Amino acid sequence: MQPLHARYPFLAAAREAVEAAAVDLGEVVATDDAVTQRALERVERAITDGTVGEPHRRTRVELLSYPVARVLVSLVDQHVCTRKYARAEAEAAREQFSTEFEATTEFKSTQSQRIELRDLLAEFDLSGSVHEAETGYWVDVGAYLDLAADQRGDQWRLVNRPLADGRVRIAAEELHVLLKQAIRHRVTDGLPFDVPDAIASELDEEVDHLQEVLAELDLTREIDTVVPEMFPPCMQALLDQVQKGEHLEHHSRFAIAAFLTSIGMTTDEIVDLFQVNPGFGEEATRYQVDHIRGDTSPTEYSTPACSTMVSYGDCVNKDDLCERISHPMAYYEKKLDDAEDDDLVDWREENGESGEDEADA
Ligand code: SF4
Repeated sequence: MQPLHARYPFLAAAREAVEAAAVDLGEVVATDDAVTQRALERVERAITDGTVGEPHRRTRVELLSYPVARVLVSLVDQHVCTRKYARAEAEAAREQFSTEFEATTEFKSTQSQRIELRDLLAEFDLSGSVHEAETGYWVDVGAYLDLAADQRGDQWRLVNRPLADGRVRIAAEELHVLLKQAIRHRVTDGLPFDVPDAIASELDEEVDHLQEVLAELDLTREIDTVVPEMFPPCMQALLDQVQKGEHLEHHSRFAIAAFLTSIGMTTDEIVDLFQVNPGFGEEATRYQVDHIRGDTSPTEYSTPACSTMVSYGDCVNKDDLCERISHPMAYYEKKLDDAEDDDLVDWREENGESGEDEADA
């Protein structure tokens, strides 16, 4: 097992190394606590801060923690966990390979295990699709579309790209983003999978812990995407009323403002959105939104659950998904999860608001 494999455990060669060592994962989780704990750290940190934590000093522990982390993600079996985990692994890899690509010649000679761009391109069958340009690269349009499809931001749209002979021009850093995407696909591939009972039972405690971490997760930190078409029916209806200039009861106004705050909109953006409605004075709206956010009150208010929405008569136009959730935020989260990333055009991007460009998210 080589350090390179531990740094890039998603590589086919790393998997082969684990197979060649005839490692029995059941035995590993039963006997090697260091591996299990590092695997748990990988997943927990992915959920909480989008990283996979610091590598373990022992190559074997670090490498084996990757397949065990995949087992944990499979046992947790929640889309948000799988997505965050794949994203964190891909980001960790991007940081690592960017550093290694940039390493000086001097450094190269001492680190024979450095990964090179051509290795990663070959790993993802991209060698024939990426061509060096004077600055940056030309990427065959098929490969580009495949990997840039999930990127948000106008700069990734094909129409905004130099295009010649079926190739798209990109900068070197953008190639890193595309490689990161290829890694994310690789990590996501096959997740979640069925885990044999014997292995699952050894990891009960870790899985319970991860479930708790997920339950405590503040969805507002995860969702920073404003796609009104994906809003739950109740919020779509309230937003519609706001935009038509209709009067909203205090509880309805609170519900929509809390929801928009929870999905990451700033006070200014909400004020802008509400301003079409003459019933919403800017100052009053600003005060209410700041209050909900906790800026002008000791409490940060969250979006009402469906049961509260029902009791106030704000639950309208229920659809099939509504039958499976109990909170408007859960509805929105599920919709975003299930959507093709192409469909997720952030309202703020379309309207030139300050929403962050998530091209590298
Ligand atoms: S069930 Fe919940 S999410 Fe669906 S419309 Fe009613 S309140 Fe909104």
